[in-house]
Amino acid sequence: MADLRRALIATALRVSAAGLNKGTAGNLSVRCGENGEPGGCGFLITPTGMAYGALEADDIVFMRLDGTPVGRRKPSSEWRFHRDLYVARPEAGAVLHAHSPFATSLACLRREIPPFHYMIARFGGTTLRCASYATFGTQALSDAALTAMEARRACLLANHGMLVFGRDLAQALDLGTELETLCEQYWRASQLGDPVLLDGDEMASVLEKFAGYGQQD
Ligand code: 13P
Ligand code: ZN
Repeated sequence: MADLRRALIATALRVSAAGLNKGTAGNLSVRCGENGEPGGCGFLITPTGMAYGALEADDIVFMRLDGTPVGRRKPSSEWRFHRDLYVARPEAGAVLHAHSPFATSLACLRREIPPFHYMIARFGGTTLRCASYATFGTQALSDAALTAMEARRACLLANHGMLVFGRDLAQALDLGTELETLCEQYWRASQLGDPVLLDGDEMASVLEKFAGYGQQD
């Protein structure tokens, strides 16, 4: 359990070092059991309003899937979308929420990111949806996010930021970084004109290739 708490803090620090979050923006969690076993009936999550650099293992909060927190700190105000993702998506092992600059800028336009680059398929579909707006920390925001993530593992949150999950902490960080990179590329390309979009047939074949991509561990 202590090891997983330390791994969560180390990954949170990497999220900051990668420029995905600044100050106390964003949050990170990892699925586990009450004694830190993999899988399990809950998750560890960053505490609300605390800078990652100051975190100690005991600042990390364990939450049961029914929303009961266990620990000396209050959990992230966004525990609901972390919890709801673990309940709805068995493949989610770690969840990252960030206010990264390019994803957040595009989210402020409330725009779906179209298939301007084949890497859009890495997130499970032919677009990256933008969830409708709701106040931070509410069940309405969690509901909107889960709808936008149907059959996808990431979305933008209107006027707020991004949300992504991976099979573990390392993959959640990798996918968050890839998502921010795609948003930057879309923003840059859009400065020069309307990006040429890949068609449905091409995206279908990329999605098929991604199903067998990488080391498949
Ligand atoms: P927490 O500090 O409560 O995790 O909130 C940060 C945030 O990004 C809210 O959307
Ligand atoms: Zn946020």
